[in-house]
Amino acid sequence: MRWTDDRGGNVEDRRGLGGGAVVGGGLGTLIIAAIIFFLGGDPSSILSSSSSSGPAPTEQRELSAEERKIGEMVDMMGKWNTITWEQVFSENGMTYEPPKIVLFENTTQSGCGTAQAAMGPFYCPADQSVYMDMSFFNELQQRFGAKVTEFTVAYVLAHEVGHHVQTLLGTTQKVDQMRRSGQYSEAEMNRVSVATELQADFYAGLWAKRTDAEKNILEPGDIQSAIDAAEAVGDDNIQKRSQGYVNQESFTHGSSAQRKEWFMKGYNTGDIRQGDTFNQLLR
Ligand SMILES: [Zn+2]
Repeated sequence: MRWTDDRGGNVEDRRGLGGGAVVGGGLGTLIIAAIIFFLGGDPSSILSSSSSSGPAPTEQRELSAEERKIGEMVDMMGKWNTITWEQVFSENGMTYEPPKIVLFENTTQSGCGTAQAAMGPFYCPADQSVYMDMSFFNELQQRFGAKVTEFTVAYVLAHEVGHHVQTLLGTTQKVDQMRRSGQYSEAEMNRVSVATELQADFYAGLWAKRTDAEKNILEPGDIQSAIDAAEAVGDDNIQKRSQGYVNQESFTHGSSAQRKEWFMKGYNTGDIRQGDTFNQLLR
C-alpha cells in the first residue's frame, strides 16, 4: 500500500504505556450500547464494566521502529477515512464527525468498559471511538493464517470506522432498540448482527475504492489481503476451528463468502446506496 507520512487522523497511541496504569472511574454506571467487534464472539464475556477487577498491569516499554511506523500508517488512514466520509456525507447533505482512534495492545479502558486481552479491534458507540487492538494482527497471522499487510490493518480500521458511520446514520441505535425491545428471537438478532457487520465490510470496501481513486494507495495484492482477512474471520471459519461444525443460526458476523461479497460490493460500486444489507438479508 502506498501512503505518505502526512498525519492527522485523531489518534491516541496507548501502546507501550503499561496496561493497568490507566484506570477509569464510573464505567459501571455507563449504559453500554452495542459494541461492535471485528471478530465474532460475545462482548459481555470480554468487556468488564468493573475497573476494580481490571486486568493485571503490563510493563511499560519502548515501541519498536516497526510499531511506530504502523502507528503512523493508522494515523494517516484515519485522516483519509475522514476525508472520504466527509465527501460521502456532504454529497448526501449531511455533516461527518470523525471518531477518535485509540491504538492499544492487550487491554485498555473504553467508554464501553475494559477491553480484555485478545478481544480484537472494536468500536464503542458510547464514546464514538475506534479501539484498534494492535496485538490482534499477530493473532490474525498466527492463529487464523491470514497474511497481514499494511492494507489488512487499513481494512480493519475502515471496517470499524464503518461502524462509526452506522452510529452517525442512526443504524446502531435502531439495532440497539430492537435488541432491548425483547421482541426478537436470538436467531433474529443474530441475523441483524450479521447485516450490521456486512454493512461495515461494505463501507470498508467503499472507502478503499474512493480513497484509491483520489490517493492511488492500492498496490497489487492489497485487495486480496483484505479479502483473506475477511474470509479468515468469517463465522463459519471461526466455528469450524473452535467447535468443528458450523451453525448458521448463531452467526453474528457473516460467513467468509458473505464478508468477501459485501466488501467487494462496496469496492466495486463505491456507492453508499448499494449497501443496504438489512433489506437484502432480513427479507
Ligand atoms: Zn464489526
